[in-house]
Amino acid sequence: MAREIVLGQSDRGRVAVDGLIRHFGSVRAVDGVSLAAESGEFLALLGPSGSGKSTILMCIAGFETPDAGRVTVGDRDVTAIPPQRRELGMVFQRYTLFPHMSVLDNIAFPLKMRGVARAEREARAREALATVRLTEYGARMPAQLSGGQQQRVALARAIVYRPPVLLMDEPLSALDKALREEMQLEIKHLQRELGVTVVFVTHDQTEALTMADRIAVLDHGRLCQVGTPRDLYEAPQDPFVARFIGETN
Ligand code: ADP
Ligand code: MG
Repeated sequence: MAREIVLGQSDRGRVAVDGLIRHFGSVRAVDGVSLAAESGEFLALLGPSGSGKSTILMCIAGFETPDAGRVTVGDRDVTAIPPQRRELGMVFQRYTLFPHMSVLDNIAFPLKMRGVARAEREARAREALATVRLTEYGARMPAQLSGGQQQRVALARAIVYRPPVLLMDEPLSALDKALREEMQLEIKHLQRELGVTVVFVTHDQTEALTMADRIAVLDHGRLCQVGTPRDLYEAPQDPFVARFIGETN
C-alpha cells in the first residue's frame, strides 16, 4: 500500500542502467545490462561471484565509469556526475565506518560534507541512530560495537540525508546466520518505512528470494532474467537461472 503511494507521487527514487558495459582488459565484467528499480522497490542483483554485480552497483554509485551506457536516478542522467552528487546512500560488506570517529560523528559525516550546520547534523544523526535502534550508542567508537551493530550504524549513515535510493553490496555477508536474518528483517522494515528504493547485491539465493520485490539474475556480466521471486522460482527462463535458483538451501 505504502509503496503504491510513493510510486504515485514521484519517480525520484527510480534508478536505471541502460546498455551498461564495463570491461577490465579482456574481462567483460558487465556486458550490456539494461535494468531499472522503480521508486520504493527492493531490487536484488543476484548471481555467483564474478558475475558483475558489484561493478553494476559501482557504476550506479559513480565509483566506476562505464565504457558505454547510461545511468539515471529519478529523471536525471547521472552518468557524468560525480558520486557525491548522485544523492545515493551506500552500505558495503565491511570496513565502512571511520574507526577514529564516534558512532554519532560517523553518522553525521555525510551531512557535514553537505554543509549542514552542527546542531541540525547532530539532531538528524540522533534521529537516524534511533531508527536503527541504537539510541544509547552515539558516543561509542566503532570498535566497541558488534558486527551487526556496526552494520546498523552504516545503515544509519546511509539514510541520514534521506536519499531516495540505497545501494547495498552484500551488506550482511560478514554476519553470522542468526544476525543476518535479523538484519534482513530490519532492512526490509526500514525500506518500507522510508519508502526508499533499494538495490541490493547478494550471491545468496535465499536472501534475494526472501527480501526482494524483484530479482535480477546475472551470469558472466549478462542479465539472465528479471522477475519476482515467484517468477524465478516457478518460471525460470533459462537453464542457468533454474540451476542457480534451485541451489537455494
Ligand atoms: P561480483 O560482484 O558479482 O562478484 P564483480 O563485479 O566484482 O562481480 O566482478 C566481475 C568481474 O570483473 C570479475 O571477473 C572480476 O574479477 C572483474 N573485476 C572487477 N573489478 C575489477 C577491477 N577493478 N580490475 C580488474 N578486474 C575486475
Ligand atoms: Mg561483489
